[in-house]
Amino acid sequence: MAQKALALSTDAGYTGYGDEQGNKDLREAIANVVYKDKGVKWDEVFISDGAQCDISRLQMLLGSGVTAAVQDPTFPAYVDSSIIVGQAGKFQEETGKFQNIVYMRCCPENDFFPDLATTPRTDVIFFCSPNNPTGAAASRTQLEQLVEFAKANGSIIVYDSAYASYISDESPRSIFEIPGAKEVAIEISSFSKFAGFTGVRLGWAVVPKELKYSNGFPVIKDFNRIVCTCFNGASNIAQAGGLASLSNDGYQALCRSIDFYHENADIIIDAFTSLGIKVYGGKNAPYAWVQFPGRSSWEVFDEILERAHVVTVPGAGFGPGGEGYIRVSAFGRRECMLEASRRLKSLLK
Ligand code: PLP
Repeated sequence: MAQKALALSTDAGYTGYGDEQGNKDLREAIANVVYKDKGVKWDEVFISDGAQCDISRLQMLLGSGVTAAVQDPTFPAYVDSSIIVGQAGKFQEETGKFQNIVYMRCCPENDFFPDLATTPRTDVIFFCSPNNPTGAAASRTQLEQLVEFAKANGSIIVYDSAYASYISDESPRSIFEIPGAKEVAIEISSFSKFAGFTGVRLGWAVVPKELKYSNGFPVIKDFNRIVCTCFNGASNIAQAGGLASLSNDGYQALCRSIDFYHENADIIIDAFTSLGIKVYGGKNAPYAWVQFPGRSSWEVFDEILERAHVVTVPGAGFGPGGEGYIRVSAFGRRECMLEASRRLKSLLK
């Protein structure tokens, strides 16, 4: 990235607008490294300035006339962008839900995977795996069910794999590991958590050529139009960083830092479990999902903030299904994790 930034100040190294869809080398590297043997072609990969921005661009493509389903709890951008684009109805105080959005409950009782037999049909299904905040990664069998469900209903799955690089078991790292997924799914992903690019801003979307509307028109053509009209391509400096991350050396260095965050997650899990508090997640994601049955998540958050000076996230921020939980992040320095663990143990013992 530094070399690319310096090169921009020279005649020979200056580059202006690139392809709106992204630098071909980076699109190829993502297809070949991230989607090795998963049948994703380089020209189905669209480089972006992050998964969050792609969620909104996809919402612009889908428009206000569609129905959407989300996991409950999950990353708030799916519901918030549905509201902005006009898909959602009024907020209902009694349930904590927006009308016209289907909330698919994900909790320990259903292994954090929705009961599809009772889930109503929607045009779009936002599905995040590993899920933020629960840290749950859907298994192959669960994703096969999801793809089958979308196929039967003529729904499009928007699959968010921003945390896929944290999967430590045999759970699929992409929806495209599931046969038939290319006909029903778009995958969005990010360098933010994989390479620490939260501020650099780099991500991608995979829109398969096989994905078509019911009238047979390919979705990829519309997405290409949206990207060319509303985006104009990711920063060439950020893309140079993305390419370096996917080189052999870069990739190995990233795997080492992911291992480091897994160790941080183990420290958090140990702190809570040693107190007899139930913790989920932390194995396939950098987040621990900590259960405080019967308590308000804001109250637990306040208590930990005020008395231990440790910042967590109240579960209710991720949907009504997050009530009774807090999310604890493993992204931090080792000494901070150890200090937080010490303070939590003395506060909650
Ligand atoms: N998707 C999920 C599930 C996230 O948790 C986040 C950030 O927390 C994002 C997307 C945002 O990613 P980006 O930084 O690429 O916009």
